[in-house]
Amino acid sequence: MDSALPPLTASTLYLVATPIGNLEDITLRALRVLRECDVVAAEDTRRSGQLLKHFEISKPLLSYFQFNEAKRSEEILERLRRGEKVALVTDAGSPGISDPGERVVKAAIAAGFRVESVAGPCALIAALTASGLPTDEFHFVGFLPHKSGQRRNRLEALKTCAGTLVFYESPYRVEKLLAELNDVFPARKVVLARELTKKFEEFLRGQPKPLLELCQKRSLKGEFVVMVSPEMT
Ligand code: SAM
Repeated sequence: MDSALPPLTASTLYLVATPIGNLEDITLRALRVLRECDVVAAEDTRRSGQLLKHFEISKPLLSYFQFNEAKRSEEILERLRRGEKVALVTDAGSPGISDPGERVVKAAIAAGFRVESVAGPCALIAALTASGLPTDEFHFVGFLPHKSGQRRNRLEALKTCAGTLVFYESPYRVEKLLAELNDVFPARKVVLARELTKKFEEFLRGQPKPLLELCQKRSLKGEFVVMVSPEMT
């Protein structure tokens, strides 16, 4: 462990992971980067403002979300050119994982700037590591498209994919996803990771059909990661 605390590097884009529910999951390094950077680029400035306030950090916030990524990426590059240290955060978890980030990272690298990952919470990793499913090889799908036909095609294409499949899903579509999994992967083990790191965290394990019935009975709410075992387990 390196206990020395070097200052942040000028002209660097820091990708700062933030808690996915439990505020204790913020890392010491994340707090220091948020304290010492020049500006925080945030997916939702109001939400990130609350997080900063909780940790008694006061910092200028810049909005950076899916629909202004192109324009804001240019602004972030301009700040990096001026020598600023820019921290990028999203509403929860790791930037760039089913969240904004990829575009500005690519642009910063292409322009020759340093990009550092301030690693921390990520629902994908929290779910997979406690799922009991194989972790040696996995395929992160993220969110499926909304349209039924496109979802079905995507799931069919994943049949031949090696390793555990990991999906993000909204609480409004989790039953739909389980019904689709029952059609495409009826014999596979499925794990639902719900409300990770929060008070009502739970892992539900079983084949798609009984899990679907359980969800219908309990009308489960909250945030979900859905995982499907590889064919041969
Ligand atoms: N960047 C985030 C990360 O690193 O995990 C993911 C952001 S994505 C917009 C939000 C999705 O992540 C949710 O719909 C859910 O599928 C998953 N997720 C986030 N927090 C979660 C939690 N506490 N428990 C279960 N799933 C969660």
